[in-house]
Amino acid sequence: MRVRETSTIVSPQTITVRNPATLEKIAELPVASPADVAAAVARARAAQTSWQKQSFAERAKLLYRFRDLLIDEQERLADILTAESGKPRGEVYGNELFYVCDAIGYWGKSAARHLRSERIHPHLFMFKTKKVFSTYCPLGVVGIISPWNFPLVLTLGDALPALMAGNAVVIKPSELTPLTGQFAAELARKAGFPDDLVQIVIGAAETGEALVDNADMVSFTGSVEVGRQVMRRAAARLIPVSLELGGKDPMIVLKDADLERAANACVWGSLVNCGQVCTSIERVYVEEPIYPTFVDKVVQKVRALRQGPGYEEVDLGSMTSENQFKKVSAQVDEALGQGAKALTGARANPAFPGHYYEPTVLVDVDHDMAVVKDETFGPVIPIMKVRDAAEALRLANDSRYGLDAAVFSRDKKLAWEIAEKLHTGTVCINDALVNYVIPDTPMGGIKDSGFGRRHGAEGIRRYCYQKTIVADRIGQRSEFPWFPITRKKTQSMRRLISFLWRSGWQKKFRLPTGR
Ligand code: NAD
Repeated sequence: MRVRETSTIVSPQTITVRNPATLEKIAELPVASPADVAAAVARARAAQTSWQKQSFAERAKLLYRFRDLLIDEQERLADILTAESGKPRGEVYGNELFYVCDAIGYWGKSAARHLRSERIHPHLFMFKTKKVFSTYCPLGVVGIISPWNFPLVLTLGDALPALMAGNAVVIKPSELTPLTGQFAAELARKAGFPDDLVQIVIGAAETGEALVDNADMVSFTGSVEVGRQVMRRAAARLIPVSLELGGKDPMIVLKDADLERAANACVWGSLVNCGQVCTSIERVYVEEPIYPTFVDKVVQKVRALRQGPGYEEVDLGSMTSENQFKKVSAQVDEALGQGAKALTGARANPAFPGHYYEPTVLVDVDHDMAVVKDETFGPVIPIMKVRDAAEALRLANDSRYGLDAAVFSRDKKLAWEIAEKLHTGTVCINDALVNYVIPDTPMGGIKDSGFGRRHGAEGIRRYCYQKTIVADRIGQRSEFPWFPITRKKTQSMRRLISFLWRSGWQKKFRLPTGR
């Protein structure tokens, strides 16, 4: 695999990458122009023709070699990832590297099974004379456009199934965090993938647009607003897109829940990666009788968290994006102005120069406030009191988003009923966010959270088109519906339709049903 060195990109523009925890400049990279992107896709298309001929076992072998290199270089990876994202080192290993290593094993083992050609037996006896197969073919060059919150998982991690399916990939990481993707792609090159099969293009909106203009399919992860723009652009070329967008994930805590587990899940599920997770818990509905105890527990646990630069013994790092930091501050300030009460945080952490926002627990909030309606994508936990499970469910579904949700109760039947009634793509019962790291399970949203599924069979089939092959097994000189059309044939066809489908006939004459 060859990574286009940024020095080969002919572009007058550059982007500056800063460490969000210290605000220091850590890199200056040339931007890929639309012409550079078109050229990268053309090279990828050439590389893909021989790659698709390789067996699943050969493709998997290279992924396993890549995984070994990632593990050998994990310290360096953690240095780069921590520096450009501001996340604690522990999260690099626990959330990014762990996921990618496991996903490599999953896709390496399961791709052949998910993409196996399937023999289809037609239900109508007349078509038993045909041999029918459904097969999966790679789309060609997949463009992967990624946000900044998981610079490894959402770049190389998303590329794994595309590669296993026989595609080439051109990845556009976020302009805020391009270094991790670059480094991982460099390791992939060392692992021995064909030249130009995996390329990284650096840049912002214009580079992303050029990728949509050239790739054969786009896998986009990011905001709802940009997702819409990507879909509009892809529509002009009629290429498939997969959109993994924002969320405002609810958590419901019923009065019989294990409160200790629920409070721990709430704090971690809302604040992991500083709340910058698409499936973060962003609003919590708690039944009245346990509300005070639950809030107390959450507040105690949040007060015990340690925030600081990216060493091993911290729980929260800085936020990655200055814009997001400002958005979070503005949402919290607005909610306070509208009557919300902050039990912790609600301010920038004064101990550090970077984008550190203190973990914030808000009460006295409601659905008129942006902090409850809109995605926050930061370390904020709004908690609301509800009368009963029905009210919790109604409020949880009162959202334009539908990504993930969590329900806590010891009543398994009730929790399951609520899970079934929640309007989201995934739900956890007595757990939080865990579905993302089980690559066997389809993961994705509904409503404004997008469509398309990563993981499971759907997660690799989205990078393929389905081809059906029908072969005649008999070899007659002509078939009944073929030319010429005659009166006799037309009458026979009318009789055949009655014979096959008129209610009661099959039973009366003990004939095989055409239904
Ligand atoms: P964003 O939409 O601003 O940017 C995402 C990517 O799109 C970036 O690489 C950006 O450069 C690129 N881009 C911007 N304009 C473009 C255009 N016009 N055409 C093509 N590409 C363009 O999102 P962000 O701020 O980087 O990330 C945060 C968002 O991502 C949040 O809303 C979060 O919920 C979402 N997210 C969703 C998932 C999921 O799986 N559903 C996972 C992680 C993050």
